[in-house]
Amino acid sequence: MTTDIFARCRSYTDARAARSAGLYPYFTRFEGSDATIAQTPMGEVVMCGSNNYLGLTSDPRVRAAAHSAIEEYGSSRTGSRLLNGNVSLHEELERDLADFLGMPAALVFPTGYQANLGAIASLVSRNDVVIIDREAHASVYDACGMSPAKVWRFAHNDMEDLERRLASCPPDANRLVVVDGVYSMAGDLCPLPETVQLCRKYGARLLVDDAHGLGVLADGRGTSAHFGMTEQIDLITITFSKSLASVGGAVLGPEEVIDYLRHHARSLIFSAAAPPASLAAARAALGILRDEPWLCRQALENASYVHRELAALGYDPLPSEAPIVCVPFESAVPAMFAWRSLMERGVYVNAVLPPAASPRLRASFTATHTPEQLKRAVAAFAEIRELTPPEWALEDFAAQ
Ligand code: PMP
Repeated sequence: MTTDIFARCRSYTDARAARSAGLYPYFTRFEGSDATIAQTPMGEVVMCGSNNYLGLTSDPRVRAAAHSAIEEYGSSRTGSRLLNGNVSLHEELERDLADFLGMPAALVFPTGYQANLGAIASLVSRNDVVIIDREAHASVYDACGMSPAKVWRFAHNDMEDLERRLASCPPDANRLVVVDGVYSMAGDLCPLPETVQLCRKYGARLLVDDAHGLGVLADGRGTSAHFGMTEQIDLITITFSKSLASVGGAVLGPEEVIDYLRHHARSLIFSAAAPPASLAAARAALGILRDEPWLCRQALENASYVHRELAALGYDPLPSEAPIVCVPFESAVPAMFAWRSLMERGVYVNAVLPPAASPRLRASFTATHTPEQLKRAVAAFAEIRELTPPEWALEDFAAQ
């Protein structure tokens, strides 16, 4: 008996229920070019929900670099790097990234998501085993889905579980372990020294997705540098869509691997190159990061101020070593209600709901947030502390 594949779209109720309750936290329209203030249909908000950790999206030097790339190259190369899409900006940025992070070589992808797809899916095959931290980013999961390798998950940051899985790999299987340097849903770090040690012991290669470590830890050089272990990491993936104020991503690793990926990574070969303006913006942001490492420290300080204040208000923010402050909620409706209540008080944070992660509000902070903006965010959290969602909203959702 066949049925219409569109049927699932009709029975999908979560978003509709949230919309009809006025609690829908997604696809808000944000206008304006400032890194820390935005205009929304609900009024002006302090932006505490972007990954613009250094605030460089509105830096005049970054904007000027993007403008001049448009003048030089036009709006897009409209093609893959393999064929007509490659520009010298790609290669300059690759040299700068490898240099800054202390890795032998780099390969720039159109997005960080595609960097993970390319790095993981092109390197492993049928008889290999990929072992990933349960809380690794969705792009790591999707990369595994694209490969015929066996995929095993280990409990978050649990080194005993990782060792159990490494030890139970078939003896002839190649092993790849994939972790995030900084876990974005709480801001906690991967225990890199122990992870490296286990990879060595069991002959596994290690890939660290450092999307949230770049520009933040070790004066911007990321999680591997934070632990003083860059030379012992096989592969690092990064994105330009956070500290580097742009869009794009890269894989860093040994020359021979990078050259292999250049010719085998389907997410690179079969997708158009990032626009030159994005490459130029990322390169300018990287230059600023190199010259002004105080920005990283300021982002961390801003977040730890809010972390401290929220704890003093009686919230229970998750432990974090990044400019990320997450407040967990028991279920989705109170989290969405708190999200909306903050919006009404001029503060935007991310509402994170299952299946992405257990319900929480995720706030992220920027080096250029002013003390007044941070105080405004804390004051809004203070005001909503005792608010609870109306009974009808809870009942409405329970009925779904
Ligand atoms: N890895 C991690 C850990 C991320 O948080 C993200 C972005 N949310 C990505 C990869 C993908 O990066 P991009 O936005 O460049 O596609």
